[in-house]
Amino acid sequence: MHHTESIQHAMFLDNRNKALFEQAQEYGFKYLEEAASRNVYPTEEAIAQLAFFEEPLPESPTAAVEVLDTLQRYGGPATVCQASGRYFGFVTGGMVPAGLAAKTLAAYWDQNSAMYVLSPVAATLEHVVEQWLKELFHFPTDAVAGFVSGSSAANLCGLAAARYRQLQKLNWDVNEKGLFGAPRLRIVAGNQAHSTILKAVALLGLGKDQIEWVDTDAQGRIIPEQVPLLDASTILILQAGNVNSGSYDDFHTLCAQAKAANAWVHIDGAFGLWAAVVPQLNHLTLGIEGGDSWALDGHKTLNTPYDSGIVMCADKEALTHALHMSGSYIVKSDHRDGMYYTPEMSRTSRGIELWATLKYLGKTGLQEMILGMHQRACQFADEISRIEGFTVLNDVVFNQVLVQCATDALTTQTMQRVQEQRACWVGGSVWNNRKVIRVSICSWVTTAADITTSVQSFAQALHA
Ligand SMILES: *Cc1c(COP(=O)(O)O)cnc(C)c1O
Repeated sequence: MHHTESIQHAMFLDNRNKALFEQAQEYGFKYLEEAASRNVYPTEEAIAQLAFFEEPLPESPTAAVEVLDTLQRYGGPATVCQASGRYFGFVTGGMVPAGLAAKTLAAYWDQNSAMYVLSPVAATLEHVVEQWLKELFHFPTDAVAGFVSGSSAANLCGLAAARYRQLQKLNWDVNEKGLFGAPRLRIVAGNQAHSTILKAVALLGLGKDQIEWVDTDAQGRIIPEQVPLLDASTILILQAGNVNSGSYDDFHTLCAQAKAANAWVHIDGAFGLWAAVVPQLNHLTLGIEGGDSWALDGHKTLNTPYDSGIVMCADKEALTHALHMSGSYIVKSDHRDGMYYTPEMSRTSRGIELWATLKYLGKTGLQEMILGMHQRACQFADEISRIEGFTVLNDVVFNQVLVQCATDALTTQTMQRVQEQRACWVGGSVWNNRKVIRVSICSWVTTAADITTSVQSFAQALHA
């Protein structure tokens, strides 16, 4: 406890306490240094220690150094080490060091990205990143980008723009009139659509029961022949990167069909869209530029720190009208005012770490990093299939590998043992009604040696 006159006085002192901030950086830096040798998943003991935090809100202030030390002492050991290179759970992502460093600096700046006048630097870097992304993905030159918290939000925004535009085509202003009594919209989606698509459909009042589900093939891709006749009241939802298999819909065929019918195409490309920037992989995303809106992540494949997602929309008016807001104190500028493209008003300066990450990597660095993830995934598939008792179920087109043992029980048991060994971390999923272990390679950190170590852990787990 500080024995100072007031908390304000204490904070003035803390603000000038360089050692406090250096300590935070040092803890963080040490964490990264040790990432390769840490348990990928925290031990039971470390998790039990989290009980320390369960206390009533303290009556009086705590010294800043003590706050930080408590966090380091009880929080640090209970982290899931995604910086390790052997974390393959869900679909996550590492951090490009330059992006992390830039985000750290920007944290001191504490910029609000709502309007240009609130932060010229945040607005300018959003603008630059928007231009770069359009160029990278060959999106229409008048497309716009909204910088949101992740692809859940990006899907929501893209579908909100779709809802606005498709109803407007039917002479219905959804902002003014709402959905009660509105003309009916049709939602067409593959039966492998990501759960966040369903959430967005529900949130937007479109109704999950209204979705016209389209059958998918063995890899999880929409079967084009199964797509119903599209029309101007339709929103067609496609996927670049199936969350299990990593597969891609046939954008070339389906976007052309949608365009001819005046339907809207939203592409959920959370992690998978990034294949478009790699010459060896961009056959997967052929035709994506024919979409109307796209969701993609910063914090998965691009390896920016959390939380970073991007909605891109070819129809600026639809996106800004769907997300519009106004107020007497709003200062509209001739520059980029980020809030017109996002649901939020006040917002962190995601454009800064996105800019830093892209600037650092450049096109060739980006290509090498993403191709590297694919190569590691292929290596994993190759090494694991040579071990008796494991089968790889999917075509490893991008970064996802689905592994299965002889029975569901054996698959689950093996996965649990791999998790207990803590050499790597993988999660489970269900594929074609069978249990699978899902391996997702999403970090620049992962090396060929990490893959081999992890495959060995699988072998040990199966034969234990
Ligand atoms: C991860 C993911 C999402 C959700 O993205 P968040 O950034 O976690 O909100 C949506 N769609 C797909 C295909 C995903 O992989």
